[in-house]
Amino acid sequence: MTPSTTFSGRTLALFGLGGSGLATALSLQAGGARVVACDDNPERMAAAAAQGIPTADLRAADWSGFSALVLSPGVPLTHPAPHWTVDLARAAGVPVIGDIELFCRERAVRAPGAPFVAITGTNGKSTTTALIAHVLAAAGLDVQMGGNIGTAILSLAPPAPERVHVIELSSFQIDLTPSLHPSLGVLLNITPDHLDRHGDMARYAAIKERLVTGADHAVVGVDDDHTRAIADRRAGPLTRVHVGEGATEPGLLVRHGMLIDGRASPPVPVADLTGIAALRGAHNWQNAGVAYAVASALGLGPETFAAALQSFPGLPHRMEEVGRRGGTLFINDSKATNADSAEKALAAFPRVHWILGGKPKEGGIDSLAPYFPRIAHAYLIGAASDAFASTLEGHASYSRCGTLAAAVAQAAEDAAREPDAVVLLSPACASYDQFRSFEDRGDQFRALVRALPGVTTSTS
Ligand code: ADP
Repeated sequence: MTPSTTFSGRTLALFGLGGSGLATALSLQAGGARVVACDDNPERMAAAAAQGIPTADLRAADWSGFSALVLSPGVPLTHPAPHWTVDLARAAGVPVIGDIELFCRERAVRAPGAPFVAITGTNGKSTTTALIAHVLAAAGLDVQMGGNIGTAILSLAPPAPERVHVIELSSFQIDLTPSLHPSLGVLLNITPDHLDRHGDMARYAAIKERLVTGADHAVVGVDDDHTRAIADRRAGPLTRVHVGEGATEPGLLVRHGMLIDGRASPPVPVADLTGIAALRGAHNWQNAGVAYAVASALGLGPETFAAALQSFPGLPHRMEEVGRRGGTLFINDSKATNADSAEKALAAFPRVHWILGGKPKEGGIDSLAPYFPRIAHAYLIGAASDAFASTLEGHASYSRCGTLAAAVAQAAEDAAREPDAVVLLSPACASYDQFRSFEDRGDQFRALVRALPGVTTSTS
């Protein structure tokens, strides 16, 4: 744990007692601050109280006594309307911050130069964060990974000169961190997503840009117009990462899956990304390019990086290989909860037995029409079945399977009739009609596949 000492002796209001909220309260207490915590959920309030965290109804509190309001990420700061705690804090002149801010303040007093890699972007944050942490750990560095992925930041070991914190940040977290000055600030990409929660695109992009502006050294994927403009505006040290056949930036380039360090003269080939199972799909090339930018800034050479890539296990539910049977490969991409993500998966294979469906999102799968010729057969599950059937009608063969179990059984049987088939779960839908979460859906898929007779896994 990182005790948060910069509010020692003072009292803070805290709203949101999920995992990171609890960790924050405990860290503040360990650092000598007083916390008054609150949550809309009475069970969470009770769980916090049982851990010795004072709780109270903050509506009735005297806000003039609070030095800050610590808000959990995802609680609205502005859009569609500020949360009531934010209104009360602002009316009393109390700053609103998050747990990343507490970490940044702690780093500033404890180990100001400690390596701190902060990663954001619309897509690929978790994969890139895990990849960077893996590569650095493989090279023998003392790595702490967390934030928006896995462990809450204040539950990690404290900042220290020889310890690298690799932290995934959502836009919400950046918004709650006025003192964000990472040694390496990574921005992968910016595409329209979560606008429902952030308002307009300009504001969403401006939040992401703050990470770049505040960084000692910025690493920016320049494959979209928003990030490219941000890179062009950047005054300080910057590494650009450009993926594309004609990529020619004076930075890191990925051409046809080959990662090249274009900063050197002549350019140095770093790694062939096409054969790395955990980084299937061209979208992962950006993640790998960015990871190399960070690794090289921290002193790793191309050979060390390329070797570490080979042992990257990948993340569950993101193009995860869950088994093989004969020539059939089974891929769990349950994280693909919208058409954009499913597109990345479809683009990675020339022909697929595609399991999709669930709770549909606006727009359905209309945008995936260019990939319909790749569909060997589609296996529809869940509430989206009717809508997806009418979109696919006349373009691809499909079956309404109802459940995931029926879809897996039928897809496995059909695939077995082909020499080299791919069975892909990439649902393009939320999971809540039939599952607790996308993780639950992916776990069930993995279990169903592994229960098929004759399936082998890379670990078996
Ligand atoms: P995040 O943490 O930002 O949600 P993940 O690493 O969990 O991102 O990946 C989620 C999905 O986003 C993946 O399944 C894939 O479809 C897509 N994706 C991953 N990396 C990228 C990227 N660099 N660009 C575009 N899409 C990506």
